Amino acid sequence: MTNSSSSNTYKNIQGAIRRAGEDLGFSESTITTITNPYNVINESVMVEGIDTPINMYRVQFNNALGPYKGGIRFHPDVDLDEVKTLAITMMLKCSLVGIPMGGAKGGATLNPEDYTETEIEAVARAWVRTMHEYIGVDKDIPAPDVNTNGQIMSYMLDEFEHIVGRSEPGMITGKPIALGGSLGREQATSQGGVYALLKMIEYFPEKVGKKRVVIQGFGNVGSFAATLLAEEGFTIVGISDSRGAVYSGSGLEVHMVAEKKKTSNQSLHEMFDDHDDVLKISNEELLLQDCDILIPAALENQITEANAKDIQAHIILELANNPTSQTADDILKERGVLVIPDFLANAGGVTVSYFEWVQNRAQYYWTAKEVDEKLFQFMVDATDRVYTLSQKESLTLREAGFRLAVERVGRALELRGQK
Ligand code: GLU
Repeated sequence: MTNSSSSNTYKNIQGAIRRAGEDLGFSESTITTITNPYNVINESVMVEGIDTPINMYRVQFNNALGPYKGGIRFHPDVDLDEVKTLAITMMLKCSLVGIPMGGAKGGATLNPEDYTETEIEAVARAWVRTMHEYIGVDKDIPAPDVNTNGQIMSYMLDEFEHIVGRSEPGMITGKPIALGGSLGREQATSQGGVYALLKMIEYFPEKVGKKRVVIQGFGNVGSFAATLLAEEGFTIVGISDSRGAVYSGSGLEVHMVAEKKKTSNQSLHEMFDDHDDVLKISNEELLLQDCDILIPAALENQITEANAKDIQAHIILELANNPTSQTADDILKERGVLVIPDFLANAGGVTVSYFEWVQNRAQYYWTAKEVDEKLFQFMVDATDRVYTLSQKESLTLREAGFRLAVERVGRALELRGQK
């Protein structure tokens, strides 16, 4: 995403929070507090073995509800505007689902494909050395995001524990099970999204059509969404990776594709032969294909003014963060497309991160079934609250979500003495 689209998204989110805050009767100073980050850490860091410095970020947005929480992204487009935008979104997400955490986000500007595993480990360790004073189990708890994973969380935990000289597994989430991770964390974002979608479909059964789904992005979130939805009886007609998309009206064997993706370096275009009943298209074309449910599960700003009017889906489940521009959102509203907003749809990831943190603090670990039942409860409760308010006040799901999320942060600030 370019600088300007990040800063537009950031301003739009600030604007939506302001409107929600005014509707709720919050003071100007409370609204100003909710719309601006508490701490911004931005350093250019030399990393062992890499000859140019790497920009590293942590934006701690607001901790009125509890310690800061949010992932770390490694991507060439990471910049301060993007990290701020993702941090404000984390604040909304934690507040909306009702977990006792604030919002944060981190990043490092690099393309992981240009580096060896050893260099990536060095970047991860350098990120923690740069940020260690600001993070910790009761301060700020990072997690994976785009291009970071359990292995990177393990290096980060190890580096942090060396610095502080004690065991502190709850300082980071998304860890492998052997280092104190939670069962169910890997698929949590997708599983939470599936629970929100199934609940919303109960309210809007007419929108589900023939249950044909297109998913943009086949990383962790997109691939789990595809396999979980296929298990629920949906037909996955289109998927994409960063190199292109495939579409088949009769449905794709997503379990097989997910397996192949794990074990080979092949792109989706390489995986399918020309004689397969499969159309090879671009990522942009994929969004416009015939389907009932569209799931952006890649990067920001994919549904824009340029394509919103041509999208055929009746439901959009935003598993990516901020995939829809404001103008596109207005067009979709006008056209009656039901958009399940990112800070509800993808909140399952941080919800199970919260469960991981609780288990780390207690040093007592739950079964996969316990995690799943709790995730289901959090997602269904949040979805119900959003739906009910949207009906009561004639709001879109996004507008209702903003109102609920802002209300919880604003009340916490007032209780803390904010006038
Ligand atoms: N990066 C994920 C998100 O955007 C997870 C954050 C977390 O678990 O703290 O929601």
